[in-house]
Amino acid sequence: TKYVYRFGGGVSDGGAGDKSLLGGKGANLAEMAAIGLPVPPGFTISTAMCARFYEEGESFPDSVKAEVAAGIDHIAAVTGKRFGDAENPLLVSVRSGARVSMPGMMDTVLNLGLNDVTVAGLARASGDARFAWDSYRRFIQMYSDVVLGLDHGAFEEALEIAKEDQGHFLDTDMTAADWERLVGVYKGLVEEQWGRPFPQDVHDQLWGAIGAVFGSWQSERAKVYRRLNDIPGDWGTAVNVQAMVFGNMGETSATGVAFTRNPSTGERVYYGEYLINAQGEDVVAGIRTPQYLTRAAREAAGARPLSMEEAMPDTYAELAQVFDLLERHYRDMQDIEFTVERGKLWMLQTRSGKRTAKAALRIAVDMVAEGLIGESEAVLRVDPQALDQLLHPTLDPAAPRDVLTKGLPASPGAASGIVVFDADTAEKRAELGEAVILVRVETSPEDIHGMHAARGILTARGGMTSHAAVVARGMGRPCVSGAGTLAIDSKARLFRVGDRTVSEGDVITIDGATGEVMVGAVPTVQPELAGDFGALMVWADRVRRLKVRTNAETPADCRTARDFGAEGIGLCRTEHMFFDAARITAVRQMILASDEQGRRAALDRLLPEQRADFTAIFEIMAGLPVTIRLLDPPLHEFLPHNEAEFEDVAAAAGVGVEVLKRRAAELHEFNPMLGHRGCRLGVTYPEIYEMQARAIFEAAVAVAEQSGEAPIPEVMVPLVATRRELELMKEVIDRTAEAVFAEAGRRIDYLVGTMIELPRAALKAGEIAEVGAFFSFGTNDLTQTTLGVSRDDASRFLTAYVDKGIFPRDPFVSLDVEGVGELIRLAAERGRATRADIKLGICGEHGGDPASIAFCEEAGLDYVSASPYRVPIARLAAAQAAL
Ligand code: PEP
Ligand code: MG
Repeated sequence: TKYVYRFGGGVSDGGAGDKSLLGGKGANLAEMAAIGLPVPPGFTISTAMCARFYEEGESFPDSVKAEVAAGIDHIAAVTGKRFGDAENPLLVSVRSGARVSMPGMMDTVLNLGLNDVTVAGLARASGDARFAWDSYRRFIQMYSDVVLGLDHGAFEEALEIAKEDQGHFLDTDMTAADWERLVGVYKGLVEEQWGRPFPQDVHDQLWGAIGAVFGSWQSERAKVYRRLNDIPGDWGTAVNVQAMVFGNMGETSATGVAFTRNPSTGERVYYGEYLINAQGEDVVAGIRTPQYLTRAAREAAGARPLSMEEAMPDTYAELAQVFDLLERHYRDMQDIEFTVERGKLWMLQTRSGKRTAKAALRIAVDMVAEGLIGESEAVLRVDPQALDQLLHPTLDPAAPRDVLTKGLPASPGAASGIVVFDADTAEKRAELGEAVILVRVETSPEDIHGMHAARGILTARGGMTSHAAVVARGMGRPCVSGAGTLAIDSKARLFRVGDRTVSEGDVITIDGATGEVMVGAVPTVQPELAGDFGALMVWADRVRRLKVRTNAETPADCRTARDFGAEGIGLCRTEHMFFDAARITAVRQMILASDEQGRRAALDRLLPEQRADFTAIFEIMAGLPVTIRLLDPPLHEFLPHNEAEFEDVAAAAGVGVEVLKRRAAELHEFNPMLGHRGCRLGVTYPEIYEMQARAIFEAAVAVAEQSGEAPIPEVMVPLVATRRELELMKEVIDRTAEAVFAEAGRRIDYLVGTMIELPRAALKAGEIAEVGAFFSFGTNDLTQTTLGVSRDDASRFLTAYVDKGIFPRDPFVSLDVEGVGELIRLAAERGRATRADIKLGICGEHGGDPASIAFCEEAGLDYVSASPYRVPIARLAAAQAAL
């Protein structure tokens, strides 16, 4: 097998299509080289080597050694420099590059190829001894950290001491002799900590770095990142070895990061940052605060240091042309890294840029208008899950704000929460159900779990392309970065701004759209759903086949869902209406009654309330189907909790507290989820379902009478296992319907159907369809009963199951397509064989999960039903599934 692929100097062994083999970075370097852009020559060791590396106990086969040697020869031939040469030494970078980008999660080594001999050669060849010694010390520092695993704190400390000794404030004040002295100190540190001298053989250096980068694929932080982003562990990373170019060769050199459009808003402007006389990592790490790329951005921010457009107009013009060319070539917004070495522009990376949901929408819609992509492609460009960011509230512009300070608007959205200063605390307090804002000087990849647990992230340092900003945007967390006036004292667990102090546990609000940081919680308002969002939804609706309904039972939720485009109600859980404070006493009276007569007395009190509930829903959902599920949960969930509640019920029912308590004890169940619930309630106490059916039909008749537009009630019986159960319940419902129609002198259309949430129901779907006109797959219970895993207790062990690859994702979040999915397919098939026009839908939480929706499309269901805020997500996911 071939493992090494060259690029640069007129050669490209790969291209943009080879991402799974060469990783994103390697494939795009090859592509850029192929279209004639200035790419420093190099080669990519493929992802196939990563798997082999681990198979062989973290070592390399001989064949690849020869290939790498040939790769180095390629770089040498193009650059005219030689690896390890005393006169004109070749230096290389060694970087990771997986199939999808994992920003900052894996390792990089720069300036490799320097040693005590080549450093002098570099000084002569570059005519800049200061630069050569600075590069050497950077290399030792990075190599010791990444490859040798030594404590990097000691190196940073040595640098601080060296600066102090010389009375220097900035790194740039250090002279060649200062750096040379520091190199001596660093080499001493390596010997001391590692027990051996710093490796002088450049080939040893190279193989050490290649091994470390492959090894970083299995680092803890990389694993966490993969889990959070559903990236399979067997993909592996590629390793890119490339000739170094230097942005730190003086005032005509620079390094930068740019997006071809604004990744926060999607606006069509070049967007980025650069630093004069610096190396790539300096921009991303947020150590020096970078400067603006364009003059317009600098002026808008009121910043002083010149933008690249002003400071290096010719190189900037060349760069702008490259931006346009890359966008046209890839037909997508690009995220680009570049370096200017003594006035010459070099491209180091391009990839599809990560963007906020808002930017994704705007870019997709704009690119259709620009003729770059078509409508269907635009629909495929937006991640449905990411819409979540847009559908949630933003800060109320009219609400008062106690603004503490302002940083950069690094990732949009607003969040309030208590301040915490480290990732572990963020995770712990979030687990306790608290909303937290993670406040850091700057974030590093080790903070990723805390960033995920937090509602928002605030940093004192770093730019718009710093680690915190990139990761927060990817996760959809609001982020304010580079709030420079923030003085964080993490030991004392507080931060100060001027004379104000905020301690751990205090509430603050951050606005990722403006960069404002406020004391206290600021109220929010609903988002605006027109514009780009509206346009994309129109295109999505044009291509989707699946209908999208909602799970809702309150008028407010029904209205929200209709605004979001719901085409009916797929699940109205009537028990939610029973918990209402005004009626819970009557509900308890019904449950605790000792006979039918007592139950009917309580039900008579509940009837008008239920009728009012359904009337409100039917009015809002006029003309659309409304699936109402009859009472489902175990009775014991409604039992009184304390003395006062028992007394309320006793007074209402006219019986003693002791009698009620005895009855409550009788109702206790060991395993309520498998107990007296669902249609088992209707079978034992038909009068409950009778009351609910009466409320439904009376409401439907009344709304039809008033508005002329009849709702279409679909009465749903839960937890059916057998045909006979449904038959008995259907008799109760039909009889009640006839009675109501006779009283009203008017009929309406309705359906009776069932949920499929038990394996037996799925197996016997052919028989059940003889009675039921529709099936709604209750995949919450169907997952629970098929897997024999309690939906309420599963989280304790399911994480381990996902980590060990037993399930690809939590099966209560994303449908177990192989197991539960097979039951759904089978039930759909058997149901249709009996009743060709049977209506099929899904109403478990999976109805709002894009991967599960793709399954529903494939299984040929008629609709999915999702919670109101997930309706737009489901519409987009259904469209993507159909394409
Ligand atoms: C289900 O079981 O999937 C369902 C939708 O019902 P519930 O969540 O109310 O049990
Ligand atoms: Mg259920």
